[in-house]
Amino acid sequence: MGNDTTLLLGLDGVSVVRVESLADGTRRVHLITADEAARACPSCEVVGSQVKGPAVTWPRDLPYGERKWEFFRRKRRWWCREPKCSRKSFTESVAQIPAGARGTTRLRQAAGPRMRDAGSTVVQAARDLHLSWPTVMDAFRTSAREVTGAPLPEVDVLGIDETRRGKTK
Ligand SMILES: [Zn+2]
Repeated sequence: MGNDTTLLLGLDGVSVVRVESLADGTRRVHLITADEAARACPSCEVVGSQVKGPAVTWPRDLPYGERKWEFFRRKRRWWCREPKCSRKSFTESVAQIPAGARGTTRLRQAAGPRMRDAGSTVVQAARDLHLSWPTVMDAFRTSAREVTGAPLPEVDVLGIDETRRGKTK
């Protein structure tokens, strides 16, 4: 596997080790941490140097392709050795898969625009993306704030070329 598959996945901070095809057709994508910054303590930002132990998570992602896919992510727990830090240990975390999150950041970010721009209901978006209702509702609130906080885009009057599109041979 390696670079091409990791590039295809497009999820910053993790690398694809291999992809496994399960009996029911599900593709299981094995991920490892690929970003040194993931080892920084979230409290004091000092990089961990002593492994506490392994950890495994199953973060969900956007649907891709016709068959189901799932992530199997191996990461590590680290001791924080900074004397002034109150945190004893932490697990690796990358921006696209924050520690404790059950889904990728891009999955949660996709939920808001779905309702805002595509008129999807909370229930429908939750079903499509396999997310919980509160997660989708949070994403929608964030997404709605982005719109109301931003200036409205200017809408140009349609030009001749655009209205004729599709009619010419
Ligand atoms: Zn720390």
